[in-house]
Amino acid sequence: MRRVYLDNNATTALAPEVFEAMKPFWLEDYGNASSIHWYGQRAKAAVETAREQVAKLIQARPSEIVFTSGGTEADNAALVGILEAAHAENKHIVTTAIEHHAVLHTAQALEKKGVAVTYVRVGASGIVDPADVERALRPETLLISVMHANNELGTLQPLEEIGRLARERDIYFHTDAVQTVGKIPVNVEKLGVDLLSLSAHKLHGPKGVGALYVRKGTILRSLLHGGHHERDRRAGTENVPGIVGLGRAAELAGAHLEEAGRRILALRDRLEEGILRAVPLCAVNGDRARRLPTTTNLRFDYIEGEGFVIAMDLRGVACATGAACSSGSLEPSHVLSAIGLRPEQARSSIRFSLGRFNTDEDIDVALEILPKVVERLRAVSPHYKTAVTSEK
Ligand SMILES: *Cc1c(COP(=O)(O)O)cnc(C)c1O
Repeated sequence: MRRVYLDNNATTALAPEVFEAMKPFWLEDYGNASSIHWYGQRAKAAVETAREQVAKLIQARPSEIVFTSGGTEADNAALVGILEAAHAENKHIVTTAIEHHAVLHTAQALEKKGVAVTYVRVGASGIVDPADVERALRPETLLISVMHANNELGTLQPLEEIGRLARERDIYFHTDAVQTVGKIPVNVEKLGVDLLSLSAHKLHGPKGVGALYVRKGTILRSLLHGGHHERDRRAGTENVPGIVGLGRAAELAGAHLEEAGRRILALRDRLEEGILRAVPLCAVNGDRARRLPTTTNLRFDYIEGEGFVIAMDLRGVACATGAACSSGSLEPSHVLSAIGLRPEQARSSIRFSLGRFNTDEDIDVALEILPKVVERLRAVSPHYKTAVTSEK
């Protein structure tokens, strides 16, 4: 059976070049980057090269890159780091209802410690309105955290406008850019962000490594206490092979950015249009224009998402219901609820997400299998039968 991977927003395949770049740092250059001997210096030099590679991809300075264990840690470090460094009596942060749980659950944990949090709502577009962000601001607002692209819908958020609001008021601005870095151009100056999270495994790099961009002059308390690594911004011996992998993945993503972006967009559109043509009672969730080229989220009326994903998987196609971390639970995705979908609509929604390694044949296979799967599932749905009969 030919297997097709359309779940690249959950994780991506490691690029072979990235694997090759990492190999010596497992087997030969295993030094601790803090050691002064030859082994240590080899490791240290590799970490600094990776820092330059990551900085270049987002138009930052190498000294502004802090390596972390991934996107989740970068999000935690940004929110907790800013809040803990501030000595204000009243602390307030503004974020959105559609953030990844790495931000949402961190914000909720901060609320338990007395921080006030406003969760700005979004409409059916899945895009936050900067005017709503502005209305949420208070004199004691310390931080705004708005993701760059939503991982479930792919919708792009108006960061430049929000960045201007933040800058005018001297409020720190963080973005979770895990879904955009390496997929579309990301420029920290243009976006006006002070902090930006990214993750290697979402851009064909290894799992368990990421980075937080910290604009020069940003005062941040380190999440982890220990040694003086990463200029006192993140304690712990550096994950040298992982960091090398992230650096190489960033370099490759930069080199492929335009060509891959165009190709992925064409594949995504062919998939989406093909599905909409072949399947009745089906619609796209969220804004179709202001969206990542990699993602489409569709709802199929009278289909139960989990059953759909399993049926597709049995035929070799991997896709997802909502976010990977929500699957297995019957709770509808918080993002789909936030854009106003009823629980049964949210549960009938499927995300297809593409990456650099997807091909035309992948889309052919998906388009061949999908309508049959939908038809079969609807054939056994009592609601579908009732609805179709009552329409006649
Ligand atoms: C995957 C993801 C994360 C978490 O990154 P990890 O490296 O897996 O911890 C955070 N935010 C978004 C938007 C993501 O898609």
